[in-house]
Amino acid sequence: MKEAKAILHDGARVAIIGGGPAGSFFGIFASKLAQDMGKTLDLTLYERKSFFTHGASGCNMCAGVISESLVQTLALEGINLPSTVVQWSIESYFFHTLEGSVEIKSSRLRQRGIATVFRGSGPAGSLAKGIQSFDEFLLGKAMEHGVCVNRSFIDKVCREGEKTKLYSAGNILQECDLLVGAFGIKGATGKMYEDIITGYKVPPTVKTAQSEIELGNDWIAHRFGHSIHIFLLRIPGIKFVSVIPKGDYITISVLGKDPKLDHIRAFLDHAAMKKFLPSGFKVPEKFCHCFPKISVGAARNPFAARTAFVGDASSTRLYKDGIGSAYITAKAAAHTALLHGIEEKDFREYYFPTCKFLNRDNLFGRLLFAANNLISFISPISRSYFNIVQGEQKNPEKNTPYSDILWDMFTGSRFYKDIFFRALHPWCIIYLLGAVVIYPLKKAVFSFINR
Ligand SMILES: Cc1cc2nc3c(=O)[nH]c(=O)nc-3n(C[C@H](O)[C@H](O)[C@H](O)COP(=O)(O)OP(=O)(O)OC[C@H]3O[C@@H](n4cnc5c(N)ncnc54)[C@H](O)[C@@H]3O)c2cc1C
Repeated sequence: MKEAKAILHDGARVAIIGGGPAGSFFGIFASKLAQDMGKTLDLTLYERKSFFTHGASGCNMCAGVISESLVQTLALEGINLPSTVVQWSIESYFFHTLEGSVEIKSSRLRQRGIATVFRGSGPAGSLAKGIQSFDEFLLGKAMEHGVCVNRSFIDKVCREGEKTKLYSAGNILQECDLLVGAFGIKGATGKMYEDIITGYKVPPTVKTAQSEIELGNDWIAHRFGHSIHIFLLRIPGIKFVSVIPKGDYITISVLGKDPKLDHIRAFLDHAAMKKFLPSGFKVPEKFCHCFPKISVGAARNPFAARTAFVGDASSTRLYKDGIGSAYITAKAAAHTALLHGIEEKDFREYYFPTCKFLNRDNLFGRLLFAANNLISFISPISRSYFNIVQGEQKNPEKNTPYSDILWDMFTGSRFYKDIFFRALHPWCIIYLLGAVVIYPLKKAVFSFINR
């Protein structure tokens, strides 16, 4: 006799491990869809952290930029970020290079803009600031959709036939029909799954450095404006630094080769950054900082029978919009589980293509960031690119292809493949190469005439 297909029947038990964005999104979408289908699911989400705690221990450690596309998508889902969650709205990006600074505004930036948030309740020492955690806000939304949140750390998972058992500190917490791994990459939980799920492998990661510096709302508004500042300064060991304004704080996010606290200090001491700090500013002895891992690849086999991995534990966009990727993968996995089934072949056929799409796009992202690094390290090309972008920004309402490339790369508002093919357009390359020759020539002629 043919075996019955494994589906999420009415009353099925779903356990979600991890209450970051991916876990909450999965809970929300699974619950919504089940309701539309006239089913009730028993959804439990396990989260070990309390996002009410200040500092790194209550935070999912990220730069906290919510991309323009995600702000809009969430609004369409009926999830509007309240002002207690949104710390700052972003209207432009400033790029600071050794050649100078240029502000890029995009005519495409629509009304809702880009938002910056804290993942926890704010930096260590920010007790009285009334900051609402983005992750806690999303957990609240999941609870509104009937997801039960259990603040336990899942330290053991056992598979017995069709059921999976979840344990914490030696106690069995539940058996489930579907297990959703939304545990991210920052802890060791993924390794536990490598042992029990054949073929699953956590994504490769690199270390980053993050810190929060308090400068006061007025100073930040005056000096940083409504802009994210990207510094490409050729500091040894640093690829680039992003400075993100958030209320009374700036978040400094360093991407490089094994960044350390000294890199953050070196950056704060750099002349290009000093201009943005109050005169006499001294790097505090102690400030909130962390060294979270960031995903730079994809998980292998992010699914198995009755199991799906979502968010960072699966696939995420390179260096950008990780929270947007959590949304994409969580939604695709929830739809697969409810509309198609929870067998391995269901996830392979209906969920995996979404992951593969993100992974393929990241190949283009890798090439774009490599080209960006190369450009910023080769002075004549960097200067020419800078001059072109500066020229474009004098008339931003006109065609601004070079600014758009930078904007789309750093905001994550377009997929990398699209940006890559725009960057490869023959005119783009010819114009840039032409500029490499023409600008120094122009400069030489001017200085000769003015002699
Ligand atoms: C330096 C840095 C800057 C970044 N900046 C941005 C940015 O500006 N914008 C953006 O969109 N993305 C950014 N990202 C990426 C973003 O942080 C991730 O893509 C996103 O958080 C992934 O969400 P997630 O839910 O999959 O994982 P996470 O956010 O890591 O959540 C996983 C959750 O699972 C919980 N958990 C883990 N194991 C267990 C267990 N065994 N039991 C119970 N709970 C468990 C953890 O406590 C955690 O809350 C950045 C990342 C880094 C490192």
